[in-house]
Amino acid sequence: MDLSVIVPCYNEQECLPLLFDRATSVFGGAGLDYELVLVDDGSKDGTWGLISEFAASGSAPHVRAVSFSRNFGKESALLAGLEHAGGDVVGIMDADLQQDPETLLAMYRELLARPDADCVAAYQSERHEGRLQAALKRRFYRVFRATTEGCADMIPEASDFRVFTKDVASALVSMPEYHRFSKGLFAWVGFNTVPFAYEPAPRAAGTSKWSLRKLMGYAIDGIFAFSTVPLKLATVVGTLSSLAAVVYIFFVLWDTYGLHNTPNGYPTIVCLILLLGGLMLLTLGIIGEYLARIYLEGKGRPTYIARRTLSADGGAVERGGFERSK
Ligand code: UDP
Ligand code: MG
Repeated sequence: MDLSVIVPCYNEQECLPLLFDRATSVFGGAGLDYELVLVDDGSKDGTWGLISEFAASGSAPHVRAVSFSRNFGKESALLAGLEHAGGDVVGIMDADLQQDPETLLAMYRELLARPDADCVAAYQSERHEGRLQAALKRRFYRVFRATTEGCADMIPEASDFRVFTKDVASALVSMPEYHRFSKGLFAWVGFNTVPFAYEPAPRAAGTSKWSLRKLMGYAIDGIFAFSTVPLKLATVVGTLSSLAAVVYIFFVLWDTYGLHNTPNGYPTIVCLILLLGGLMLLTLGIIGEYLARIYLEGKGRPTYIARRTLSADGGAVERGGFERSK
């Protein structure tokens, strides 16, 4: 099989019919032997029904589909997709056609045209989002690249809209972590990545599934999953404030016994207690973030649980039940 296209879907019943039309005409038209790997991330609408119908219709030569037992998030959906993809080349695309099949096909051709490349990563030549959000994202990636291990070569604008070889897919699947942050994982596994400019289309239908809160949580997960710098930050800040305290003690001694000033520094003391107390709580909080993650990773829970699976070749559907991430 030439190409597997992974599509995470969460409440995408409006988009899926359009997606199926476009994908079958583009990939079918290119004469590829391809499969669509559709992951229903615990949708509450008719997403799974549409996926089953599409698989049985035989419009695409191969369909693999997984339906999660609840909403596990896009990252888990991508892992499920990677685990089920069987093509020589694997692509990832959103269900809302913001990332269109035509671009994915162009990326696929780019990958084949460059024998030394392992991955083609699309980045947005122009961003269609609010200024604040764009600025926050830029700042985040700068901090992320500067503070994480193994991710210095990350292409900051690159999303998870990518096409890569099955070796890259295997490398990604072999990363066993529970807290997954694709952009970091892609950077961490390395390989030769070629950037590819594209312009995202507006969402075909429905609304974005990402709220600002979800995005913030995603960003925090990204930092804590790949960086230990916050832990070291506590050491640096603690050392600096201890040094400052030592200097201040000498100053107070000199002030009291040398200049015979009566110490009248209650406000200073209160300020210092507040400052140091605050710093200690902050560093405890940072340690807590890591501890919580170690706890969750230590439990070894699966990244996703599927309630149904489905595999269709030429419209002949085979159904399966419970499955968990490997
Ligand atoms: N998605 C998902 N699980 C989630 C949220 C989103 O599988 O919990 C999917 C969604 O169906 C879509 C893709 O991830 O295919 C990107 O989501 P969306 O378009 O809402 O995000 P945006 O384009 O606004 O970043
Ligand atoms: Mg979208």
